Amino acid sequence: MAQKDQPDIYDIAIVGGGPSGRIAALALAQAGFACALFAPEPAKTDGRTTALWQQSIDLLRETGVWTDIEANAAPLKKMRMIDATGRLFRAPEVTFDSAELGMEVFGFNILNSELNAVLQTYCDQQDNLATYAESVVGATFEPDAARLTTAGGRTVSARLAVAADGRNSLLRESAGIEVKRWSYPQVAVVLNLEHRLPHQHVSTEFHTATGPFTLVPLPGRQSALVCVETADGAEAMLAMAPTQLERELERRAHSILGAFKLASEPQSFPLSGMNARSLVGQRLALVGETAHVFPPIGAQGLNLSLRDILDLRTTLLSARVRQADHGGQAVLAAYENKRRGDIRTRTNAVDLLNRSLLTSFLPVQAARSTGLYLAGKIGPLRRILMREGMTPGSSLRPGG
Ligand SMILES: Cc1cc2nc3c(=O)[nH]c(=O)nc-3n(C[C@H](O)[C@H](O)[C@H](O)COP(=O)(O)OP(=O)(O)OC[C@H]3O[C@@H](n4cnc5c(N)ncnc54)[C@H](O)[C@@H]3O)c2cc1C
Repeated sequence: MAQKDQPDIYDIAIVGGGPSGRIAALALAQAGFACALFAPEPAKTDGRTTALWQQSIDLLRETGVWTDIEANAAPLKKMRMIDATGRLFRAPEVTFDSAELGMEVFGFNILNSELNAVLQTYCDQQDNLATYAESVVGATFEPDAARLTTAGGRTVSARLAVAADGRNSLLRESAGIEVKRWSYPQVAVVLNLEHRLPHQHVSTEFHTATGPFTLVPLPGRQSALVCVETADGAEAMLAMAPTQLERELERRAHSILGAFKLASEPQSFPLSGMNARSLVGQRLALVGETAHVFPPIGAQGLNLSLRDILDLRTTLLSARVRQADHGGQAVLAAYENKRRGDIRTRTNAVDLLNRSLLTSFLPVQAARSTGLYLAGKIGPLRRILMREGMTPGSSLRPGG
């Protein structure tokens, strides 16, 4: 329910109660726009975790939520990649160390359920932001405003609607924005584990012939696992009894963290990709997974979404300075221009990395192994890869 009186027209209506929607709502309300957020209760069943990189943390710090997120998150100091493909061309182990960039940590990893809970609390208390725990069931986009109808029968107008309602977005479809979708022959099995040995804030990614097997630190002696498998392989894992699964996962992790104990129910996510053909429509801007989806490799998805939010906020603020209509066509075109390159680059990079693991084509296997070998040997190259993994374009900037 909204806590504030409903005005005739909001500056911005944000739809979607996932992390993209809530962070967009906080950032835009704090920027001085009169906002409404439509966010049904987030699913408590999401067992995933999210690794947040430095630029995302800066945005969360600026919006005032970081201290509470950090309290529930584990620092990530090193990232280790181990070639476990067992193939002819195998890369040597490579470790990326945040200290090499003069940073204490690359980022932090947090349970999605905890991230969402913190964001929900802050949204409920935010000035300039009316929150409605209701789904949007209808949307029309007219020259002067977006008009939204909620499941509770409410009708709300806004100069701009921000769609953060996820990969099957109703707003995107209502605006007639087409998408390109594709899938991979893989499924991510996701669960959290307790382990006997400390992780020492090192994230470890085993590259296997079916995809990455990644252990990402959580607070204490716990880690989140994302294991990318074939559909049959994932089904077999999900059918295992807990003790059998624990032993199998320890075997795949080469016992680097000692014995495992399941700390959550396994969940599975078929790997797929999606790009919206346009990031904007009349009185509409897309952010987050409403605009782009790709496999959970390299912890890029939400970090990319937060860059959507940063660029959207910058574009809207600059419109306001020029006294331009912040939901008008020219302003939205500027947002689209800012975001296209970053989204394309990240989508292609994740796709390429994933396919390079799956391929049986020897030259591609050799190129991947050589790339990792060079990254291990050549400090400047390694540092460029580390910076680019966190913030695109940063290694090209002076002092980057
Ligand atoms: C296994 C896995 C691991 C991942 N790990 C990482 C990681 O480490 N780092 C990273 O950056 N990214 C990671 N990602 C990606 C990240 O999880 C997603 O990018 C992120 O969850 C997307 O958030 P979102 O808010 O855009 O979309 P969603 O989380 O899908 O939120 C959409 C919200 O909109 C709501 N909604 C839908 N329809 C309506 C409607 N009609 N009205 C109102 N609300 C509506 C839904 O209820 C939902 O709450 C991972 C993804 C997977 C699958």
